[in-house]
Amino acid sequence: MEFNKARNIIGLRVLSDNVIWLMVKDKSVVVVDPSVHEPVIRYLNENNFHLEAILQTHHHPDHIGGTKSLIERCPNVKVIASSKEKRRIPFQNISVEDGESLSILGEEVKIIEVLGHTSSHIAFFLNGENPVLFIGDTLFSGGCGRIFEGTYQQMYSSLERIKSLPKNTLIYCAHEYTKKNILWALNLRPEDQDIKNKLSEVEKKISLNELTIPFLLEEEMKINLFLRAKNLEEFTFLRANKDLWV
Ligand code: ZN
Ligand code: FE
Repeated sequence: MEFNKARNIIGLRVLSDNVIWLMVKDKSVVVVDPSVHEPVIRYLNENNFHLEAILQTHHHPDHIGGTKSLIERCPNVKVIASSKEKRRIPFQNISVEDGESLSILGEEVKIIEVLGHTSSHIAFFLNGENPVLFIGDTLFSGGCGRIFEGTYQQMYSSLERIKSLPKNTLIYCAHEYTKKNILWALNLRPEDQDIKNKLSEVEKKISLNELTIPFLLEEEMKINLFLRAKNLEEFTFLRANKDLWV
């Protein structure tokens, strides 16, 4: 478990490399992309917390796998997902669109559509003094999501959108892929000092059994080759290269 003091956001590690994020305020919890339900239920019970809402970034099983069981146990829970995914996320009860804002735990949450990984992927943005972005599988530390349903142009535009957010935005992605991503980046840019420093930092965290995420947008822009790509052509080369890298 990891804590963000400013917002009280907790990460539960599940499956091989997923992280379920829980935002806690008073006795209420919002969960992002519950791939499984057991650890979430356990956390709620141990702390006597109540589940207020489930945020779904996209329809993949490692993001919605625990949702049905959570709804069975918490029948009044709000399930927020893209209005484009009523078929693949059928249990949603609040359907949202790009640019919409809603109030969750007294905080304004803005929906940002970030297409590319899927044809309807959304992110949840909380502005303010300590901005937070729940980005699902669109951006990872050192990497970005695979393009399964969208186009290179869509994914490139999604990353441009992320880059336009406040530089102090703390980004919560759904997978702990950082070390693999950094090794790939170093393979392409072996002399890059920022990426070398990132690898040491990441290895240190891993040796202490800490998560390497969330990450700060400003710092990520220095080490993430996808965010550094100057145009669609460079982005396309990088994405295709990464797809082939083992
Ligand atoms: Zn996914
Ligand atoms: Fe995923």
